[in-house]
Amino acid sequence: MSNLSAGKDVIGYCNKCKLRLAHVIVVMKDEATPGKVTCKTCNATHTYKDQPTTRKKSVSSSLKAKKADAVLNRWEEAVNQSSDTPTKYSPRTKFEVNQLITHPNFGDGVVEKNIDNNKIEVIFKGQIKVLIHNR
Ligand SMILES: [Zn+2]
Repeated sequence: MSNLSAGKDVIGYCNKCKLRLAHVIVVMKDEATPGKVTCKTCNATHTYKDQPTTRKKSVSSSLKAKKADAVLNRWEEAVNQSSDTPTKYSPRTKFEVNQLITHPNFGDGVVEKNIDNNKIEVIFKGQIKVLIHNR
């Protein structure tokens, strides 16, 4: 249960103050998520954000960021270049390298490697997952 509503205070990230500060909720996006908030410190009204969006980049090394970019590029190349319809993922289906795959949680991806007879490495948008196949 959430007791957030317009007019109440919420701790969120302020882009101007660059800190997590108390904000007043102006409007709710849905029952549990504030939409717009006003910073009590600088009075700026902006979209509610729990954490700064750049946080991930600053904690991970630039090498990691590059690797993530490479994964995203590889994904974009594979998914955009192919005119094939992605095959719905099922652990019982046998997948081949470079085959397009669509997963209920991860979305569209491409088979990067056949690890062994029943494991494949799949590149999804910005992430690599090992999935079971050919069961
Ligand atoms: Zn502020």
